[in-house]
Amino acid sequence: IPYGPLSMDPAAKVLHYGQEIFEGLKAYRSGDGRVLLFRPEDNFRRLAEGAERLSMPPLPVETGIEALTALLKLDRDWVPEAPATLYIRPFMFGDEPALGVSASRNVTFCIITSPSGAYYESGWGPVRIYVEDKYVRAVRGGFGYAKTGGNYAVSLYPGEEAHRKGYDQVLWLDGVEQRHVEEVGAMNIFFLFDDELVTPAPQGSILSGITRKSVLQMAERMGLRTVE
Ligand SMILES: *Cc1c(COP(=O)(O)O)cnc(C)c1O
Repeated sequence: IPYGPLSMDPAAKVLHYGQEIFEGLKAYRSGDGRVLLFRPEDNFRRLAEGAERLSMPPLPVETGIEALTALLKLDRDWVPEAPATLYIRPFMFGDEPALGVSASRNVTFCIITSPSGAYYESGWGPVRIYVEDKYVRAVRGGFGYAKTGGNYAVSLYPGEEAHRKGYDQVLWLDGVEQRHVEEVGAMNIFFLFDDELVTPAPQGSILSGITRKSVLQMAERMGLRTVE
């Protein structure tokens, strides 16, 4: 159905218990005018993993790709010229109307798209990040690895505090000792020491980024030593 407001029961589970997951990827216009996606199967694989953690049925990867391809055929004229992109937001939520704390027996899956420019206010340049040593985002055994609303709700207040201090984003430390680097609000982090590229290992509390995986693959190919 075309983009528009959804009608939902006030008792829909997602509104009370946050049973929700989402993905984020982009469509790029190539120099010769084609519309390209970057490893979209990985996004739908991660959506399926997240669904499991949030007690929702995993959408088959092929179904997600099929839905996205059909939508992009309709929306292709909205894909802007580089460096702008068409942002793609698949998401799924439990909307059974019932107030008991249990998994929704009904879920809704949607994809919305929107032309977009730079993510940060600072534009395409470097971002200023604040090392957060008071609040934590996730712990092992939680659902830090899932793109689920709760992980972002928990980051809003620390993000606003960092903003007030003049920073774009928060760098999260581990949730137990607050000593080990985990990741930034919406991106994984790497450190380059001479020819060694170091990044936190995904042990359940960080998002297993597709950019992260690609950077590791490229670094190996460039002859850098990579350490997780
Ligand atoms: C989406 C996201 C990332 C990056 O994932 P990509 O697959 O590279 O886009 C990293 N960390 C967090 C917390 C995220 O939400």
